[in-house]
Amino acid sequence: MSDAPNYGFDTLQIHAGARPDPATGARQTPIYQTTAYVFRDAEHAAALFNLQEVGYIYSRLTNPTVAVLQERIATLEGGAGAVCCSSGHAAQIMALFPLMQPGMNVVASTRLYGGTITQFSQTIKRFGWEAKFVDFDDEDALAAAIDDNTRAVFCESIANPGGYITDLDAISAISNNAGVPLIVDNTSATPYLCNPIKHGATLVVHSTTKYLTGNGTVTGGCVVDSGTFDWSASDKFPSLSAPEPAYHGLKFHETFGPLAFTFHGIAIGLRDLGMTMNPQAAHYTLMGTETLSLRMERHVQNAMTVATWLENDDRVDHVTYAGLASSPYNNRVAKICPKGAGGLFTVALKGGYDACVKFVDSLDIFSHVANLGDTRSLVIHSASTTHRQLDEAQQEAAGAGPNVVRISIGIENAEDLIADLDQALAKASA
Ligand SMILES: *Cc1c(COP(=O)(O)O)cnc(C)c1O
Repeated sequence: MSDAPNYGFDTLQIHAGARPDPATGARQTPIYQTTAYVFRDAEHAAALFNLQEVGYIYSRLTNPTVAVLQERIATLEGGAGAVCCSSGHAAQIMALFPLMQPGMNVVASTRLYGGTITQFSQTIKRFGWEAKFVDFDDEDALAAAIDDNTRAVFCESIANPGGYITDLDAISAISNNAGVPLIVDNTSATPYLCNPIKHGATLVVHSTTKYLTGNGTVTGGCVVDSGTFDWSASDKFPSLSAPEPAYHGLKFHETFGPLAFTFHGIAIGLRDLGMTMNPQAAHYTLMGTETLSLRMERHVQNAMTVATWLENDDRVDHVTYAGLASSPYNNRVAKICPKGAGGLFTVALKGGYDACVKFVDSLDIFSHVANLGDTRSLVIHSASTTHRQLDEAQQEAAGAGPNVVRISIGIENAEDLIADLDQALAKASA
């Protein structure tokens, strides 16, 4: 598509990044199932390797199908550039990698996807990185946790598993003030419901496995750069501001300006970490993005209907959906995600742990799986699965206590979902 910054979201989700195939005229983006690309001549090859000319060398770095998806997600998020990778967790490492060094830390919200809490609290220690977890509703605690070795602040826009909404304006004001980039995981909200960059985020990460693909077919991830952070304002980010020894002394920020982080992600991140998205996965995700707004509208509508029904049921202790007036996060919907609070929330059952297990085992339409953001409605008992590696205090802090079931509402008929929940609740409380 030609540059047309005024197109609306529904148009961009179909057209951004894509153009008819120059060789064949194919209207749909082809799956460029190739590992390597023929150089025009030796001079062309040298220019590509020097990053003096942009083009294709090898599919660990760049691939035309993946490139369309990168441009599409960057456009939908309002970013300068994006790098796709093999999973959401890969995207998180790819986002932190240019910023961190041994001894440095990331200040992260306590309300995160369970796998991210494990990745941050355990695995990144092997790189000499540390995560400090803070309640991001406590702005003073967040400001106090940022120290001289902090290189990033990390949160989710609509946080797993409870669908809690983070006040991104308040958080970005604190991180900007400290001269540290804010990374926002926008997986649960998607760019249709929330654009973290408009609220001051430096980087946006996605698990494209979820709503962007939308039907539970492929894993993938993406890092979007706003292009607005001044990497040279301090000496905290030498990989971007100073000569980078991993690329024969290239100064990424000076050379690429707002695209510095994106070029670094490809030329060093994908080159050396190899967490590449394959073109088949990019194809499935491109198909998903074409209907993103339509699906999200229905996810939101169904979530509101089902959450309201659950909240009024005697067998239910409470429901966390931020779209409900009873939620302490309800007043953030209009500011952060005005088109709706997403399709994800938790329900706490009066019967506790045992009732939760019976409940998830009794559902017919809802599948008990470790996934979210599918067209299908899904449930998981977080305490016995995704949040199992956490102790009970961490589970409670993350909103995944033993009596809690996480629900990812699909796009089926809401009345069928309610009937299924009703019969499973009957069995669970029998
Ligand atoms: C699923 C998920 C991840 C991890 O993504 P994968 O694609 O499974 O690696 C990270 N953050 C959130 C909010 C998620 O839902």
